[in-house]
Amino acid sequence: MAKIWVLGNGQLGAMLKHAAAPLGLDVEPVDIDSTTPITLAADDLVTAEREQWPTTDITTQLANHPNFVNLPVFPTLADRKTQKELLDSLAIATAPWRPVEASSSADELHAQLGEKVLLKRRSGGYDGRGQHWLHQPLGTVIPDQWHDHAIAEQAINFDEELSLVGVRDAGGQMFFYPLTLNLNTNGILRATVSPVARLQGLQAEAEAMLGSLLSELNYVGVMGMELFRQGGQLMVNELAPRVHNTGHWTQAGASISQFEYHMRAVAGLPLAAPWIKATSVMINLIGSEFNEQWLSVAGAEVYWYQKAVRPGRKVGHINLSHTEPAKLTASLQALAGLLEDDYQEPIAWSLRELNSAAGN
Ligand code: ATP
Ligand code: MG
Repeated sequence: MAKIWVLGNGQLGAMLKHAAAPLGLDVEPVDIDSTTPITLAADDLVTAEREQWPTTDITTQLANHPNFVNLPVFPTLADRKTQKELLDSLAIATAPWRPVEASSSADELHAQLGEKVLLKRRSGGYDGRGQHWLHQPLGTVIPDQWHDHAIAEQAINFDEELSLVGVRDAGGQMFFYPLTLNLNTNGILRATVSPVARLQGLQAEAEAMLGSLLSELNYVGVMGMELFRQGGQLMVNELAPRVHNTGHWTQAGASISQFEYHMRAVAGLPLAAPWIKATSVMINLIGSEFNEQWLSVAGAEVYWYQKAVRPGRKVGHINLSHTEPAKLTASLQALAGLLEDDYQEPIAWSLRELNSAAGN
């Protein structure tokens, strides 16, 4: 049977493999720094768990395989400048931006974008790394190494952050999950809630945005689209050509998880619409040591990534999904008692959302 190779062997690769196992798919995540040669068969398939990668023996070997799905899409989306240009070319609303060129000055960027400007590295940033704020009249100097390597964005005073995760197959069929409500703190995702009834009115517009991108790119598989909501307006923050942290709740709350969708699309299997089973909350585990007591909480579905624990590092997540808000609330409260101080606000945030949805 043909193998499906995944460029990258982090948690996303592991969860892709896990989701594909019940379908009998042979999936092998590959460490980009591995020096162990692999043998790729002509009918094997290649996908990726990350949008960019260094050139190593193994990434070169994978990238040279003719069945690397979406290969031309990665450079376009991994560079924030070309990603923004793509959004502009499709008239999809996004935070106003300018390239940071060799000759750009902070004054010029403030004149174009306002008094708060966020510099973002064109590539390689994640979890808020690779960002630099320019605040007028305070520190308004572009750091040296950022010229030609960054874009500048207007600070968006958003009401909240949302995301849409969707899938497209090679024949152009697409499915989307309900919008997800996200809490990011200091640039890192802490928690998500989905579906959220009060966001239903924005679903069609978000699907049109992501749908036009997937079609334009002739994309196959799962893509994540991060959004800012400002009043009734949606604006794209960024795109990820892969399974996305804000779609992890689908492991608990949908008949087909985002990981399974991606593998089905890559393998050319039928997709089918997802059944959404219940409201789901996902809590990211960030910089915490594993605590087996988490497993004592009813409904807690723990995913531990087996990575070295470091401050600010995503090391796992916990999904909770139930049709009864009271059950979700009780388990979230129990979890709060087993997590450190910096989890209290994300959990309180998800409880507020569940409460207001329940009309309390
Ligand atoms: P990820 O880990 O999702 O890849 P990232 O570090 O690559 O994240 P962004 O998603 O662009 O970068 O930014 C991280 C967070 O910073 C956003 O979720 C949002 O909270 C905040 N942010 C980003 N852009 C802006 C903006 N233009 N105005 C205000 N806040 C912003
Ligand atoms: Mg982001």
